[in-house]
Amino acid sequence: MASELELEMQAIDRSLLECSAEEIAGKWLQATDLTREVYQHLAHYVPKIYCRSPNPCPQKEDMVAQHVLLAPMEWYLCGEDSEFGFPKLQQANKPSHLCGRVFKVGEPTYSCRDCAVDPTCVLCMDCFLGSIHRDHRYRMTTSGGGGFCDCGDTEAWKEGPYCQKHELNTSEIEEEEDPLVHLSEDVIARSYNIFTIMFQYAVEILTWEKESELPADLEMVEKSDTYYCMLFNDEVHTYEQVIYTLQKAVNCTQKEAIGFATTVDRDGRRSVRCGDFQYCEQAKSIIVRNTSSRQTKPLKVQVMHSSLVAHQSFGLKVLSWLGSVIGYSDGLRRILCQVGLQEGPDGENSSLVDRLMLSDSKLWKGARSVYHQLFMSSLLMDLKYKKLFAVRFAKNYERLQSDYVTDDHDREFSIADLSVQIFTVPSLARMLITEENLMTIIIKTFMDHLRHRDTQGRFQFERYTALQAFKFRRVQSLILDLKYVLISKPTEWSDDLREKFLEGFDAFLELLKCMQGMDPITRQVGQHIEMEPEWEAAFTLQMKLTHVISMMQDWCALDEKVLIEAYKKCLTVLMQCHGGFTDGEQPITLSICGHSVETIRYCVSQEKVSIHLPVSRLLAGLHVLLSKSEVAYKFPELLPLSELSPPMLIEHPLRCLVLCAQVHAGMWRRNGFSLVNQIYYYHNVKCRREMFDKDIVMLQTGVSMMDPNHFLMIMLSRFELYQIFSTPDYGKRFSSEITHKDVVQQNNTLIEEMLYLIIMLVGERFSPGVGQVNATDDIKREIIHQLSIKPMAHSELVKSLPEDENKETGMESVIEAVAHFKKPGLTGRGMYELKPECAKEFNLYFYHFSRAEQSKAEEAQRKLKRQNREDTALPPPVLPPFCPLFASLVNILQSDVMLCIMRTILQWAVEHNGYAWSESMLQRVLHLIGMALQEEKQHLEIVTEEHVVTFTFTQKISKPGEAPNNSPSILAMLETLQNAPYLEVHKDMIRWILKTFNAIKKLRESSSPSPVAETEGTIMEESSRDKDKAERKRKAEIARLRREKIMAQMSEMQRHFIDENKELFQQTLELDASASAVLDNSPVVSDKTLTALGPAQTQVPEQRQFVTCILCQEEQEVKVESKAMVLAAFVQRSTVLSKDRSKFIQDPDPKWNPSRTVEFPV
Ligand SMILES: [Zn+2]
Ligand SMILES: [Zn+2]
Ligand SMILES: [Zn+2]
Repeated sequence: MASELELEMQAIDRSLLECSAEEIAGKWLQATDLTREVYQHLAHYVPKIYCRSPNPCPQKEDMVAQHVLLAPMEWYLCGEDSEFGFPKLQQANKPSHLCGRVFKVGEPTYSCRDCAVDPTCVLCMDCFLGSIHRDHRYRMTTSGGGGFCDCGDTEAWKEGPYCQKHELNTSEIEEEEDPLVHLSEDVIARSYNIFTIMFQYAVEILTWEKESELPADLEMVEKSDTYYCMLFNDEVHTYEQVIYTLQKAVNCTQKEAIGFATTVDRDGRRSVRCGDFQYCEQAKSIIVRNTSSRQTKPLKVQVMHSSLVAHQSFGLKVLSWLGSVIGYSDGLRRILCQVGLQEGPDGENSSLVDRLMLSDSKLWKGARSVYHQLFMSSLLMDLKYKKLFAVRFAKNYERLQSDYVTDDHDREFSIADLSVQIFTVPSLARMLITEENLMTIIIKTFMDHLRHRDTQGRFQFERYTALQAFKFRRVQSLILDLKYVLISKPTEWSDDLREKFLEGFDAFLELLKCMQGMDPITRQVGQHIEMEPEWEAAFTLQMKLTHVISMMQDWCALDEKVLIEAYKKCLTVLMQCHGGFTDGEQPITLSICGHSVETIRYCVSQEKVSIHLPVSRLLAGLHVLLSKSEVAYKFPELLPLSELSPPMLIEHPLRCLVLCAQVHAGMWRRNGFSLVNQIYYYHNVKCRREMFDKDIVMLQTGVSMMDPNHFLMIMLSRFELYQIFSTPDYGKRFSSEITHKDVVQQNNTLIEEMLYLIIMLVGERFSPGVGQVNATDDIKREIIHQLSIKPMAHSELVKSLPEDENKETGMESVIEAVAHFKKPGLTGRGMYELKPECAKEFNLYFYHFSRAEQSKAEEAQRKLKRQNREDTALPPPVLPPFCPLFASLVNILQSDVMLCIMRTILQWAVEHNGYAWSESMLQRVLHLIGMALQEEKQHLEIVTEEHVVTFTFTQKISKPGEAPNNSPSILAMLETLQNAPYLEVHKDMIRWILKTFNAIKKLRESSSPSPVAETEGTIMEESSRDKDKAERKRKAEIARLRREKIMAQMSEMQRHFIDENKELFQQTLELDASASAVLDNSPVVSDKTLTALGPAQTQVPEQRQFVTCILCQEEQEVKVESKAMVLAAFVQRSTVLSKDRSKFIQDPDPKWNPSRTVEFPV
């Protein structure tokens, strides 16, 4: 037998089905107060249809609602049955050319890599298959839900904006026409009325905040005591917690509880109990009690009156109904947009659209996605209202983002996520920048949410609370918005755009200023740090901003006025950051070779230093752009070049590079892994473009504006090597004193690093603006060097190249010029191989090589040369000339201090026994000499009549050193080293240098009649050698090749072994790489001279033992008076040698407790 309730419901259902849409609509057409009539109808019927039983039955509810509630509205709108009315509207409609299909989660989307304006422009599958892009390079992704198809949007595609389905009829005029002309006056008036009422109703009921009351005009005469206990979704509590709590609170089975929890997660809310107020209130209090703790807020639960829940359910239905009705006609869509954006009685922010957006974070998930979809199918599909909506969105931007940051729902459920649809439309973005000052608003909003600062006003992430970290993660999406706004660059600049862009640029500089110098670190001496400091947040910020920083520069590059202004602003901010960089520092004077310079006393190893210098780096970027533009040469007076203080410009980037060198030299081991990670990311392909690369550029800028001798002295001082090179014979004294092995090695590594830096400063001129190259030269060079290591598969190569904001590397356009593609054999992958003719461009000291890559590349290139039966020298490649602004940089190679450094190191190598030096030090000096020779040769080759070659390196290295030490000339030392038996590997390089030297000498003689300074030493010409010698050499060569072949085989076997035992070797390799070869010069005592016993017993020096600390990885001698270090011991009882295993041994000594790690001094 049916229950009473069921019988009652059946009776209601019957009465509902007797409703006639025509009758009701007829009544409405006569009504004087239509709103009241409609509301009365809703007030009466909605609670009768929706939420009649604890378990909702949406299909049935919707069916009845369609019949009783929506059909009359449709009838009213069409003036007839909608079954006939809607098709008529559809026929009269001239559909828009926009596809606008809204993607579901997991639906495939396609973007054309050739034609899309940015990677956010996508097509649905149907449109893609019907478009020209199917034959282009495309990218397929699956949608996370929320976006829509951009087919038909001429701003989204460089070419082929329409698919076949959405193609413009060629006869049609493209001009925008008012879609309302296709509707009759009556329909316009009536749809305006009904849209206004229903949209208003939906907004009002969905944003209604009282739990047991309704808006006055919907309130019923007699109110039942039926309530729902409504559970809301949050991102804090887990599924398990919710399920457990529900079982307890509403006494349901686990299966039911799972069902509730799933719906709550999907729709954002679900009623879990239905009944009288008391009954629901009871469940609520149990849930709240069970889900609150000290750290977390309880789950959100509300006891809501059933009629309110009913109206809200219908409210959602109305929104989707509106969305489907406007699908019949673009005219109706426009009317709905107009209704939505019409300002309400409360003025600003009172339109229906504004009201919905502003209560976004208060709405539950399900309600949000319904109205977001309506916005997408209405406001974003109408060209006129899209603009107006964009303005509303921008005006509310700050509020919406703040709501989003404090809300806990994922981004895709927030209205803030709509920014991608609006800001990526170039015309809208431009309009919002100029009219709404959008750039500034975004940046300011972002900064407002990162309030945690140190005393200097810089961001501070140390001791960040969990809440702040959570906020920081959410606020990062604002950077993405900034990226969207900047992603399409302007082709024309209006004065307004200039003004507003520069205003935004100011705000951006403020942001960078808060990053300049953040997370400073101090070298840890004595003790190892106890806790790894927080570093990831700062790097996350830097990484997220990388593309934005690049795009800011791209924008500046497009307009000279903007560029100059931006440059000035950036310089001003940099001076604010470091204007007083000499504050509190002792000025000191440095002098070498008769040059002297004043600087400050500052040691990276003792004072604070930071890796974050975005302001300096932005200035470096802008400086390069200026150098590329004409304005720098035509109107230099417009530039603030005279205000630049080169020592100030170079100071911080130099410190940062010195820090890297010191870390590499092992001086910062006690600072732990956080520092190692930071250095890694500083050079990493994801960050280097706006970090490491720009520091190099900044130093290049500085050197080109100052006396290179001064620069080198400051550099020596920052590397803490000034003493060594400024004091004659310092090296000798230094090594004869029994110095700690660590210190010797440290200094050697620092010298190597410093030489490497000089090589980079002179050699890295492949960014357009630094050198006379174009962008493709840059990428070509990257690829050449990657392929110099080994042939690579496409994916591997892409990974090693930096991506731009459109996720492109630019590789495809140049790869064929530098590489052959070798089709996959049986082994699987196809590989790119470097073209042989590109090998001459190989630079052993390419700045993006890691240490491991560098040594692999060196080995590979030498092997290649041997295979080609060439000598194995790897001379520096011929480089493109510098741009005029950087041209004077080459003089660093022939500066007195540079020559002094070269001479000193060569001297060490000549008298190789008395000094601590390393082969890689020498190798770098040889490379530098090679670079100087290449430079001079090039200068001579392009010399013109009136042009005097001022680059006279060959003359300078032919002269002997000055008094008092009267060392031989560099050239003479090279000749000596050529025959040194301990330098076998470098012989070919030295020979190459001497050969090039002679070639230059000849060039000079032939080009200039003026006498060239005589060279000191004599150089043996190849021809002057007698046959005997040549024969011997030939034989030796054959022997050498055989030897090398065997060695190669052996190393191949070795590598094979290493490959098989990769993990084991990983660590050993790292250690090897960091230890530069120090020549051990301790005298060797022959065994024969030792006497073990008797009166003549040899005094054997006490055995010294060195062990490695497991914490800081530092070597230390084991001595009684040495410092403490950490060793670990693990002792376990064993029965291996026991005769009686049943015997229990008492723990003899607590020290041997197996579970303890013992720390003791040695
Ligand atoms: Zn489409
Ligand atoms: Zn299409
Ligand atoms: Zn295409």
